[in-house]
Formats: sequence, C-alpha cells, structure tokens
Amino acid sequence: MTAASTRRVHNLPVDSPAARERKSPVTRKVENCSFACQVCGSQIRPIARGTIRDHCTKCLHSLHVDVMPGDRASDCGGVLVPTGTDYKAKKGIIIIYRCEECGETRRNRAAADDDLSAIMELQAPR
Ligand SMILES: [Zn+2]
Ligand SMILES: [Zn+2]
Repeated sequence: MTAASTRRVHNLPVDSPAARERKSPVTRKVENCSFACQVCGSQIRPIARGTIRDHCTKCLHSLHVDVMPGDRASDCGGVLVPTGTDYKAKKGIIIIYRCEECGETRRNRAAADDDLSAIMELQAPR
C-alpha cells in the first residue's frame, strides 16, 4: 500500500509561502470575533471598531498569538499571564504580560470594559 506516502506528498512544508497564504485568510477572520477565554472560560465579546480585543475582560489573561499587536503572526500560542500594570498619559493603562510558554514579556493596552477590580489587583503591591 502506498496510501501513506502519497498523502505525505500533499503536506506543505510549514514555512513555505503557500502554507502561509493558506493560513492568513482564516486568522484574518477570527481577528475581532468573540471568543471564550481559555483561562477562566468567560465569553468575550468583540471590542468596538478600531481596537483589537487581545485579552480577557474578566481575568485579563491573553494568548501569545501576535508578534505585532493584532497580526496573529506568532506560533507560540502560550497563555500570557498578566503580571503588572503601567500607566502612560497618552495610552492609558498598560497591562504587562509574561508568556507561560516562552517567557516573552508583552504589553497590551487595557480595554475600556476590562474588569476594574482585576486591574486594581495587578496594581496592588505584592
Ligand atoms: Zn479570562
Ligand atoms: Zn510565548
């Protein structure tokens, strides 16, 4: 039987341009859809136009899916754990994240409808 070997021929190498092209239309679609938080299970509504919903409004956790905010170009997929906050006069509250998988640190703007008490907890000294 040659079924296994013929099937392998159709598998595209992960980093080929064709594989990337196939991937992008799908990721584009989910960009601003509602989703269920992988950490606390909350159903998260899409945010108002103009901003990308990148984290859970309840527990503030996010997923490591972006290289640049909103591009969904990272293959990591780890859980971004909120570790603290920062405040910038022009941007407002920034949530600081650390990826559970790869340890990368990221910063995301807090959304207007984020759970305020969760943000306060991050701001509290430990
Ligand atoms: Zn959550
Ligand atoms: Zn990561």
